[in-house]
Amino acid sequence: MIKLERGAKPEVLHTSQEAWQQALDQAISTHGTYSNIPKKEKDSLISHYRDDLIKQHLFESSMQKCAFCECKPAEGGNIEVEHFRPKSIYPKLTFEWDNFLPSCRKCNLSKSNHDTEASPIVNPYDIDPELLFHYEDIRIKAINENELGKNTIRVCSLNSVRLMRPRGDILVSLHDFAEAIEFAIVDFNNCTTNITRRNRLRRIAEAIERIELLSNREERYSGFCKNYLNKCEAYQSAKLLITEDT
Ligand SMILES: [Zn+2]
Repeated sequence: MIKLERGAKPEVLHTSQEAWQQALDQAISTHGTYSNIPKKEKDSLISHYRDDLIKQHLFESSMQKCAFCECKPAEGGNIEVEHFRPKSIYPKLTFEWDNFLPSCRKCNLSKSNHDTEASPIVNPYDIDPELLFHYEDIRIKAINENELGKNTIRVCSLNSVRLMRPRGDILVSLHDFAEAIEFAIVDFNNCTTNITRRNRLRRIAEAIERIELLSNREERYSGFCKNYLNKCEAYQSAKLLITEDT
């Protein structure tokens, strides 16, 4: 999970949100409660939040990733608009831009109608997840067992097999890069001439470039990669070498 910045409210909400909400409010008034509205009627009334333009704006703000797990749901055809405060409990927020999160189907299903007011979880548009989470091997953990982090991991199932598997694959690549950097540093330290020194330094810079690609915000699971690099001694030493030389 990484910090996200919410873009401007899409035009379609400026023009239609009020009318959509009024129609839903009318149905709630007719049937007594949101849950009493017959399914077919309710589906038709709320379907507007899944408007393509809303999805497009929302997923642009998350670089096409799920706000919770950082997978790229479009690859599985399951782009979903998640209501941070569930519409079943807070129907007044059914078409509220600030209440939408870009999500994959798995996270959306896992979170379901969890009441985030009664039992808060992290909204990455409001809170920087880096302050609350870290990783141990392929598991995400709440720093100092903080309740907000622990609750988020539980509610969104952030340590399920479907997420630990890709993290494992990335971890292999990260270990590989780290090892290459370690060898390059040893080579560099054994250099006796300025020419070989420059060549070795270039190799280190290239290895850093490759490893940093994985932690690019646009990449899947970039939060996991960034956390690994922050703790990777070989990477930190290599960065220092490059900085000292420039
Ligand atoms: Zn997800």
